Amino acid sequence: MHLQTDVCIVGGGPAGILLGHLLAKKGVSTIVLERSSGVDREFRGEHITSETEAILKQHHLFEKVEVEGILRMKRIEFFAAGNIVKTIAPESAEGHVGIHVPQSHLLTAFVQESQRFPHHHILMNTTVTKLIQDEKGFYTGVKARKGNEELTITSSIVVGADGRFSTVRKLANITTIHKSHGYDVLWAKIPAPKDWEPTTRMLQVRGHQLALFTQTGEYIQIGWNIKDGSFPTLKKEPLKPLIEPLIESFPELKEIVLQHLQSWKNFVCLKVESSRCETWVKDGLVIIGDAAHTMTPTGAIGINCAMKDADILAPIIKGALSDQNTSANRLKMFEELRRVEIEIQQDMQIEKEDSFSKEFAETAVS
Ligand SMILES: Cc1cc2nc3c(=O)[nH]c(=O)nc-3n(C[C@H](O)[C@H](O)[C@H](O)COP(=O)(O)OP(=O)(O)OC[C@H]3O[C@@H](n4cnc5c(N)ncnc54)[C@H](O)[C@@H]3O)c2cc1C
Repeated sequence: MHLQTDVCIVGGGPAGILLGHLLAKKGVSTIVLERSSGVDREFRGEHITSETEAILKQHHLFEKVEVEGILRMKRIEFFAAGNIVKTIAPESAEGHVGIHVPQSHLLTAFVQESQRFPHHHILMNTTVTKLIQDEKGFYTGVKARKGNEELTITSSIVVGADGRFSTVRKLANITTIHKSHGYDVLWAKIPAPKDWEPTTRMLQVRGHQLALFTQTGEYIQIGWNIKDGSFPTLKKEPLKPLIEPLIESFPELKEIVLQHLQSWKNFVCLKVESSRCETWVKDGLVIIGDAAHTMTPTGAIGINCAMKDADILAPIIKGALSDQNTSANRLKMFEELRRVEIEIQQDMQIEKEDSFSKEFAETAVS
């Protein structure tokens, strides 16, 4: 099958789906290609900042996401030896310190809002395998597989929004530097006890570093920092040393933890790394979100950076198409507007990771 569109977006994560929606709203024809079958995502970045909230409100999407279900976080608390040593409270009475939104809620709202545009299509179960270039080297489309069928999609611009292991980035030969941060994160999810407050809790206990995120739907997502690459060895050992410090800090979770965290199969390991690319644009091609700049879980900003990319890129693509100029020079404006901020945020993540233990020495409420 052969399809034609103005913009072909590879990857239906937060960056790709939002970009597709914003372009469609501007009258640009778009096709989003997503290899998975639905919007369910396990253990992804699920906290949005006030800045992202403002972007979504500006595009009248926030209220649609809210209908799907969100949770405003009341505080961030730092615990040491079972005591709260620091609290970060909202800056105003009606404020919050971040909003928990399952990615499925976010994506469902964006997909539904996009359905009213006849020039916008999302193809699920569709995996991009090749890029197409013209004789001048401009990217002019992709080849994809949908079941047994091979699709050819030709477009004026290809956007790689296909995440940290980006196929588009690899096929476009964009050199990427990956940085290990010395730790990986083990994630597990348990039901929250009744009256468990929507609070983010950071812990240092017996040499372990943990984070507990209250989630929509009355769950708690728990993250343990472990030495990078240690999970294969760790999972040969008993679970007890991992969950004991958690129970010691929150005795009220004991029964739930023992019931729900019985084997290593209840844990998912996130390999933590960040990345920077030599360029985010080529003639007829742009990469955004994790594909352009993978962030670490520190501060839970990955999803926010990805959606801000989409917000900044949409008008630039619209302008480039109107000018009939899709060269790297024209698209570079996107990278110029975003790269400095992203690299500052990546540097801040490293600083926060290095100084994390200092948080537990403070007693002030900020
Ligand atoms: C396992 C995991 C856990 C994470 N945990 C956290 C966390 O705790 N906190 C945090 O802040 N961030 C976390 N992140 C990062 C956060 O989820 C990302 O920053 C955010 O989702 C980036 O959005 P994106 O749209 O750029 O990429 P993604 O959300 O990765 O979306 C990319 C999409 O592209 C699709 N795709 C990939 N290749 C192809 C292809 N060839 N053809 C078609 N489709 C393709 C994928 O299926 C995916 O849906 C995690 C990421 C992963 C992978």
